[in-house]
Amino acid sequence: MIQLSGLSKIFGSQQVLKEINLSVDKGEVVVILGPSGSGKTTMLRCINYLERPDAGEVRIGNLAVRGKHPSRRDIHQLRQRTAMVFQQYNLFKHRTALENVMEGLTVVQRIPHSEAREISARMLEKVGLGSKLDHYPGQLSGGQQQRVGIARALALNPEVILFDEPTSALDPELVGEVLEVIRRIAREGITMIVVTHEMGFARDVANRVVFMDGGVIVEEGQPEEIFQRPREERTRQFLQRIM
Ligand code: ADP
Repeated sequence: MIQLSGLSKIFGSQQVLKEINLSVDKGEVVVILGPSGSGKTTMLRCINYLERPDAGEVRIGNLAVRGKHPSRRDIHQLRQRTAMVFQQYNLFKHRTALENVMEGLTVVQRIPHSEAREISARMLEKVGLGSKLDHYPGQLSGGQQQRVGIARALALNPEVILFDEPTSALDPELVGEVLEVIRRIAREGITMIVVTHEMGFARDVANRVVFMDGGVIVEEGQPEEIFQRPREERTRQFLQRIM
């Protein structure tokens, strides 16, 4: 359903992505692992053109977007099919949880207010925040704010949700509640690409683990293959360092 072909990105003199090829099936949960600076976030951001690749193609379903200068319409369509959950939540501070979730529906998808409100309340309910609709981000814990971020992504009904280290800004005691919500949504069969350092999560939830280093995919496989029988020395060394 999602196919990245020959995706390359250069920052200054550094090639951060080197002709990445990756396919993700509908309903699959793919976890991206790799050392800091290996290009994980950049790859994720290229999928919805928050970052423009210098070369290559992003295909989602029947939509193919190519190279550095696609049409605005293509980018718009790509963004209609994707939603992102950010490390720092990226909520509007002066809007309530409900208004934060509604924003994308009313502004981007032009869904009528009453309907957007109903969808948003339902999504906040789903992430366990049914009693916090009128709270502002400042009145919520980091874990709750991130759950608003997840509700916002879900509300858009995207074909894929891209998670960019969704728990790395959280205090350790708040990580579990956010992973639990992601785990629950994953079970509903939503396609997900998740950049994370949470190995337990990767092991339990991922259908596939992709290990990146130096702007390339070093190896990919089922979690038990990657964690127990990595083929590549670089993967082995990385896993030894973090586990
Ligand atoms: P990861 O997510 O694996 O930690 P990133 O994709 O964030 O890696 O970064 C890969 C490399 O690209 C790093 O060396 C980083 O410094 C560089 N980089 C990322 N974003 C930018 C940017 N906007 N401008 C310049 N360099 C960047």
